[in-house]
Amino acid sequence: MATEAQADCLFCKIVTGDVPATIVRETETTVAFRDINPQAPTHVLVIPKVHRPDIAALAASHPQIAADVLTTAGEVAAMEDLVDSGYRVVFNTGSGAGQTVFHAHAHLLGGRGLNWPPG
Ligand code: 5GP
Ligand code: ZN
Repeated sequence: MATEAQADCLFCKIVTGDVPATIVRETETTVAFRDINPQAPTHVLVIPKVHRPDIAALAASHPQIAADVLTTAGEVAAMEDLVDSGYRVVFNTGSGAGQTVFHAHAHLLGGRGLNWPPG
């Protein structure tokens, strides 16, 4: 099972510190950092420290850590003062849905109006 740091994985390198990132929260099992190409005033990525390719694989092998990703997302939303205004948590899953980094991650978006349905 591919839970060790993957040598060719950008987000594993952020977990180990080999690639710098603006980290806003770190827990025993997760890291939250600002997206390099923000799509909203707050755009934070929340990742598990373990390498799994997407959220479904993470939930299947590590359900508690999948829950931890959501807990961290909620904590960062509160830190960013988004609870009253609302925010969105998105998991792009598969290249057809826009996933480009195949290490599970939640996008936390807020600080502006968010249309529904998303594009
Ligand atoms: P995906 O398209 O897989 O759902 O999301 C990947 C996200 O990672 C994109 O929003 C992209 O801007 C972000 N990203 C790609 N490379 C880096 C990087 O080196 N640092 C940070 N902080 N974000 C990155
Ligand atoms: Zn990884």
